[in-house]
Amino acid sequence: MEMKRLLIQGAVLFEADYSIKADMVVEDGKVARIDRDIDIKSLPDGTELIEAEGLCLLPGIIDAHTHYHLVSRGTVTADSFAEGSRLAAYGGVTTVVDFSDHEKGKSLAESVEERKAAYQSGAHVDFSLHQGIYRLPQDIDAELEELKASGITAVKLFTTYRNAGYLMEREMISTVFEACARHGMLVTVHCEDDTYLNEVAYSYSGDYSVADHPVLRPAEAERRAIEMIGDLARQNDMSVYVVHLSSESGLNEVRRQRTQGVKMIIETTPHYLFLNNSRLTGANGSKFVMTPPLREYSDTLALQDALVAGEIDVVATDHCAFTLEQKLESHDVRTVYPGIPGTEEMLSLVHTFAVASSRMSMSELVRVLSTNPAKYFGLYPRKGTLQVGSDADFVLFDPSAVWDIDDESVHSASGYSAYSGMSTTGRVVMTYLRGKLLMGDDVYIGEKVESQFIPSTPYER
Ligand SMILES: [Zn+2]
Repeated sequence: MEMKRLLIQGAVLFEADYSIKADMVVEDGKVARIDRDIDIKSLPDGTELIEAEGLCLLPGIIDAHTHYHLVSRGTVTADSFAEGSRLAAYGGVTTVVDFSDHEKGKSLAESVEERKAAYQSGAHVDFSLHQGIYRLPQDIDAELEELKASGITAVKLFTTYRNAGYLMEREMISTVFEACARHGMLVTVHCEDDTYLNEVAYSYSGDYSVADHPVLRPAEAERRAIEMIGDLARQNDMSVYVVHLSSESGLNEVRRQRTQGVKMIIETTPHYLFLNNSRLTGANGSKFVMTPPLREYSDTLALQDALVAGEIDVVATDHCAFTLEQKLESHDVRTVYPGIPGTEEMLSLVHTFAVASSRMSMSELVRVLSTNPAKYFGLYPRKGTLQVGSDADFVLFDPSAVWDIDDESVHSASGYSAYSGMSTTGRVVMTYLRGKLLMGDDVYIGEKVESQFIPSTPYER
């Protein structure tokens, strides 16, 4: 078979620690050469030329926190694997780290193999997974070894959701931390202290309106859980990864832990950066329900400043889409489907806030949206970078294109964007996965591209 070769000419290439005006040659899905002024005549016949003058060439974005095709509360989320891949391609996302349920009666490795098979059968972007642990396996060492043999090096724990069966008590969490330290695995945690949430619920006398969601799930619950897992990470001399940090108090607890030497990896999401609890009032409030809830405006500012200051390691979306009809079915916070879409909007939103405003460099954006997630989830340097030998996952991004986000311009099967009405500076022009075009000039052609599971290697701490 003839080798497929591409030449991307004229763009500025951004890596996490430098940028360079350079041309890039792709051969058989891998980056083959990066150099100044590569003449197409010097390359074999049949090389495809992609003219990219004026565009930014970025490593494929990695959404490190997605829930495509999540079976939850007796339904399945609106964006399954194919829909998720499509909207991801529009957002410049070429790899996702999705979530695998700890299936009843199944081992961790059995659970993840089931999820891998389902993913691969429907997706058109590459993926890795973090494996949920909801109960202690009889032989946790054996199960973690099996999990690693399956190419998974990250687990996910919950400090809440008793009713859904996700909650792990402190002693169980402690056992998982110790075992993961032994096996060099990364522990990721949803931080909301369940005991504290119960105390709040006990003294609550409101009407469970959507606007009261932040009252029922206050930032203090997040802070307490971060304190608890910080202590466990210190005792085991290991890193811990906090998913979707939502609040200033949580952030301050992270700072306190870090000054004591605890290695905390912090992820936040576009919705905690750019949306606040004022959205929860009014007839459409349910549309903006997720857990943890949207916080005060001051919390968004604190997280924005932390991002700019380099205190946030990863921005990812927690994409979990329900249709607008499903979201608006209920205005009682106990029954609204929690979660919103966001993968597609992430790159443009972060670029607008951070880079177009000159608060961060494009390289710093690449670090939080691609390189860091690749490193923490063991995908680097195959993903998260454009070096010779890396997968040719790349985005051509127009830093000055304007995108007026509305419900019609996004591709989520949910039928809406939580960011409708916002305007971005910067938009994806083309997205390539392993040298294959997924989306170009607003047309999606990714259906024929087969998704690959990317086995991860343990995170170096
Ligand atoms: Zn999540």
